[in-house]
Amino acid sequence: MESSFNIETAKWGEVKQLDHYDIALLPWGATEPHNGHLPYCTDVILSRDIALEAAEQVRAFGVNAMVLPGIPLGSQNPGQTGLPFCIHTRQETQKAVLEDIVSSLERAGIRRLLIVNGHGGNNFKGMIRDMAIARPDFLIMESEWFAFIPRKGYFEAEIDDHAGEQETSVMMHYHPELVRMEFAGEGRSRGFAPAGLNDKTAWAPRDWSRVSTDTGIGNPRASTPAKGAAYAEAVVARYVRLLRDVCQGDLY
Ligand SMILES: [Zn+2]
Repeated sequence: MESSFNIETAKWGEVKQLDHYDIALLPWGATEPHNGHLPYCTDVILSRDIALEAAEQVRAFGVNAMVLPGIPLGSQNPGQTGLPFCIHTRQETQKAVLEDIVSSLERAGIRRLLIVNGHGGNNFKGMIRDMAIARPDFLIMESEWFAFIPRKGYFEAEIDDHAGEQETSVMMHYHPELVRMEFAGEGRSRGFAPAGLNDKTAWAPRDWSRVSTDTGIGNPRASTPAKGAAYAEAVVARYVRLLRDVCQGDLY
């Protein structure tokens, strides 16, 4: 039954042995450069690793979760999209993908979905509201694994946004073989000139070619596998708690 929570490797013989699945987890990332040292698909790789660990651990509490194949289709910023193989996915496309997945789950009797998002540019809330109104009996949740546990106490870098200490450390933990620190730039960045665009008075997408020289934002030099392991453990524990509470108790 080892792959009964990972659809990428699960067999029908394993899936049908379980009388039900409580929830599906959907890793969602992007395809974009991550400084010089991390893979393009880092966001979906890490979301998938975290989702698999949570799904495996929560089995001990009697919750059956299935991790769906990761979606590498992210929303990108101006200045990233001209870079080779950086794939920008429009909101309409992301919404269509999400709707097809939700419809398919629904037809199979599954009524809960958690998006495990690893890409800061993705924003599912509006889509989920639309779908929640159309499908009041289907719970769709989104989450950003990199954001709900504060970095302080785990990482040192002040600026740590994209391919920085946090993401690099977590990748070193799960896949050291995919990290090439000898190619890493310093991840130096600059903000907008108007203060209001930096202090969140207003928001506009940053032109990546103007704010970063090596596609990274945040210096990855202080990254270690141990930091990544400690952070991932805390993140997975929070997911396990969420999955238990949502699948085994009342929502309100
Ligand atoms: Zn990333």
